[in-house]
Amino acid sequence: MDLSIIVPLYNERESLPELISRIRDMAAGQGYSYEVLLIDDGSTDGSWDVVRELAAADSTVHGISFRRNYGKSAALYEGFAAAQGNVVVTMDADLQDAPEEIPEMVRMVVEDGFDVVSGWKQHRQDNKLTKNLPSKLYNWTARKVTGIRLHDMNCGLKAYRKEVVKSIEVYGEMHRYIPYLAKNAGYGRITEKPVHHEKRKYGVSKFGMERFVNGFLDLMSLWFLSKFGKKPMHFFGTSGILMFLIGGIMTVWIIAAKLVHQAQGVRFRAVTDQPLFYLALLAVILGVLLFLAGFLGEMISRSAPTRNDYNVKDRL
Ligand code: UDP
Ligand code: MG
Repeated sequence: MDLSIIVPLYNERESLPELISRIRDMAAGQGYSYEVLLIDDGSTDGSWDVVRELAAADSTVHGISFRRNYGKSAALYEGFAAAQGNVVVTMDADLQDAPEEIPEMVRMVVEDGFDVVSGWKQHRQDNKLTKNLPSKLYNWTARKVTGIRLHDMNCGLKAYRKEVVKSIEVYGEMHRYIPYLAKNAGYGRITEKPVHHEKRKYGVSKFGMERFVNGFLDLMSLWFLSKFGKKPMHFFGTSGILMFLIGGIMTVWIIAAKLVHQAQGVRFRAVTDQPLFYLALLAVILGVLLFLAGFLGEMISRSAPTRNDYNVKDRL
């Protein structure tokens, strides 16, 4: 099979028939053998009934339905697990992404040899203040942290080589960072393609401003995991040593000052009367805590079943 198109959907009843008919026209024009996987993420508006009708009328349409709403990442996870096509495309259900962009993205994977082709909503048709502007800042941060030069990391429209989606595990709300997951799994040929973006015709957006806070926290987690996930002590131990050094120097200074004054027979304030004493105490305690976190981290990563999962490319 050439192509799997994965569509996560949550209350998108009105959009589905048009989406499927446009995908069908696009695929017919290209002569693809393909499947569409509609993943209903616990919709309550009757979307699943529409999916059933579409699947009954067209053998390329398949559906998976969750009992409750788990989020876009969960839907993509199930879609990736089920996908059979050599190229796997993800797109939103709300008709904001155009199926007509798919052939060129597929071509870039098949002929140009890219692992991931990410859409770039160059002329984004969403609210300027609440989405477009924060999104620019967010993508700038993501570029700096991940080292992947994408303008629109979180675009729903993307194409992957099949091997990529079978080698990564999307979880939590990590759908925002699939290119980063791919890069960390060793698939570094990542590029972007400007794509047409439409205003939402039906239904409402499922993500509000909290996406930027949560997105930033997830980015920090992924960054930490990719850098120190397998050697937490290197991070916590280094900062622990630094804290100990700072605390140690301050302690020596405090004691020396006290002793020197005492030897000279000068009256000197008690050690507990100077601010430095508390800073030294704090630094030493923080040092111990950091080491403790490091040891615990090592014990956790040591017992992780994935500790020796490497993505082997070839063997001779
Ligand atoms: N979506 C989903 N589960 C959720 C939230 C959203 O499957 O819990 C789907 C949604 O139906 C749509 C896609 O994810 O197909 C993108 O959502 P949305 O269009 O609301 O995001 P926006 O375009 O506003 O960024
Ligand atoms: Mg949308």
